[in-house]
Amino acid sequence: MAAKVIDGKALAEKVRAGLCAEVEALRKKTGSVPCLAVVLVGENPASKIYVNMKEIACEKVGMKSRKIQLDESVAEKRLLDEVKALARDPEVNGILVQLPLPRQLREQVVIESVPPEKDVDGLHPFNMGRLLAFADPLFVPATPKGVMALLKEAGAVLDGANAVVVGRSNIVGKPVAALLLKENATVTVCHSKTGDLAAHTRAADVLVVAVGRPKLVGADMVKKGAVVIDVGTSKMDEKLVGDVDFAAVREKAAAITPVPGGVGPMTIAMLLDNTLSAFKRQKGLL
Ligand code: NAP
Repeated sequence: MAAKVIDGKALAEKVRAGLCAEVEALRKKTGSVPCLAVVLVGENPASKIYVNMKEIACEKVGMKSRKIQLDESVAEKRLLDEVKALARDPEVNGILVQLPLPRQLREQVVIESVPPEKDVDGLHPFNMGRLLAFADPLFVPATPKGVMALLKEAGAVLDGANAVVVGRSNIVGKPVAALLLKENATVTVCHSKTGDLAAHTRAADVLVVAVGRPKLVGADMVKKGAVVIDVGTSKMDEKLVGDVDFAAVREKAAAITPVPGGVGPMTIAMLLDNTLSAFKRQKGLL
């Protein structure tokens, strides 16, 4: 039997409807609405699209957004000054610096310049550290938070499950692994230096793939009845594709996310959710 397709678009719409209602209630109660500031450096076409999508998503749920566009060649000091100004601004609840950054800018320094209480991307070491040590960050990074919501939607049993995460980035792989561990899964993290990737993925009851290589995971690499979350996005012949051979794996897995329409929409919904939490915390409502 073909796998259940986990509909990230529908789940994201449900989340957004809830956010919309809550934003409206908060507007009535406090006279203001959450505001997300997004800093975009340079002209990376994919980053421009993501930032645009985030602005539209804010507007759709009644939140405000502010875009700060800086030149590709901007000095690090200037970028840090912009972040400082946003950090001080009481009208701004969440700050996100769109990654990747041009070479002259040190990613770690920039991430650490965002105050943890406005770090809606959840990348500041304060939040990452709390996620790892106490499973209690102020913000869980949006994509991993979306992955966990999709696993819940699929009815995946995590307690005692073998979970394999392919990819170890700070933005996806590492926080996903920490969240799965929190749910009592036995977690294996694979990466580009992993010797026999298939041997690991074949043992997975829950498989999360976040690499960025089309069709990296075929049906022969997946256990029958596994729940598969495909985070990857690449362009192939102008089409957006994931890391998993969807058509083939669908015949073997119990549940699988499509690309597009899986993790992507949930990422944006979870970013909005984080912005709402930031607002509530800053207003003393959380
Ligand atoms: P990243 O920082 O480039 O990390 C990729 C990871 O994949 C690295 O840990 C790398 O290992 C590992 N890797 C590379 N080749 C591999 C191989 N052959 N076998 C096993 N592991 C391999 O990327 P990212 O930011 O985590 O993003 C991953 C993918 O998810 C991308 O396609 C990105 O576009 C997508 N993404 C989608 C969303 C969404 O909302 N849908 C959000 C975020 C990311 P090393 O560490 O050893 O280099």
